[in-house]
Amino acid sequence: MSQNYACPNCGFVGKPRRYTKGSLGWEIVLWVLGILPGLFYSVWRISTRYEGCPKCQYPYIVPEDSPEGQEIFKKQPASS
Ligand SMILES: [Zn+2]
Repeated sequence: MSQNYACPNCGFVGKPRRYTKGSLGWEIVLWVLGILPGLFYSVWRISTRYEGCPKCQYPYIVPEDSPEGQEIFKKQPASS
């Protein structure tokens, strides 16, 4: 993925970071306990996974080339 994203919350422009809720440790524990809890936990983690702002973890960042992204990008001081 080479597209940049813009954060409406803090004005960050760049690559998003992927966040996954829960922990891999718990996932392994639940898989050891039984297939069903493990499966539910894995599905929950995948469904709550999101791409967010690496600075403030804001989950609703927008593509830089979208109208919203352009607005944020315009407000940025020219740097790098
Ligand atoms: Zn942000």
